[in-house]
Amino acid sequence: QYMVFSCADSRVCPSVTMGLEPGEAFTVRNIANMVPAYCKIKHAGVGSAIEYAVCALKVELIVVIGHSRCGGIKALLS
Ligand SMILES: [Zn+2]
Repeated sequence: QYMVFSCADSRVCPSVTMGLEPGEAFTVRNIANMVPAYCKIKHAGVGSAIEYAVCALKVELIVVIGHSRCGGIKALLS
């Protein structure tokens, strides 16, 4: 039903944050929960995950979870 993008930071667990049970959300975790713009040749991992979620799993909602004191965002802004 859900696709969730979450930071790879070990302090942030989407299952705990959202109270999800196993099998309830298709989850992608990366540094700073990045969802890059669509491109056929770059960032294929994220794009293929979205395509699989929407086309195969029929996911209707995509949620991006940010968090405070994210090291990835801090590095991006510095
Ligand atoms: Zn983070």
